[in-house]
Amino acid sequence: MAIDFETYDEDNIFAKILRGELPNTTVFEDDHVLAFHDIVPAAPVHVLVIPKGRYIAQDDFHRDASDAEIIAFWRAVGHICRELGVTDEGHRLIANQGTKSGQVVPHFHVHILAGKNLGPLLAS
Ligand code: AMP
Repeated sequence: MAIDFETYDEDNIFAKILRGELPNTTVFEDDHVLAFHDIVPAAPVHVLVIPKGRYIAQDDFHRDASDAEIIAFWRAVGHICRELGVTDEGHRLIANQGTKSGQVVPHFHVHILAGKNLGPLLAS
């Protein structure tokens, strides 16, 4: 289903996680950021990093978020990779935006993937 980029969906899965209505396996949290294990891991390490603010994808996040939110987000990504022990061995960051990317959850998130040889960038 196409993502509505005009209106933030208050009932998306990650909004429910942020409100505490759904469980998650938290690996990091601060004032601006939550990170947790992906429920369907695509690699031995698969962590999702999300801002706590109501952003649909990378476009509105980088356009509308405050400098403090953006700095906190990307500092957290680096910190979490180090804490997971995947900085030196290598990892991949993915942020899907929109239908052609395969974005499913309409709340901005970055995937951290690691723990095996991740292969080519795209499957096809
Ligand atoms: P994307 O395709 O970029 O929107 O990725 C959404 C990701 O969210 C997928 O990798 C899902 O496995 C993951 N996901 C969906 N529901 C949950 C959940 N309740 N807890 C953790 N991860 C989830």
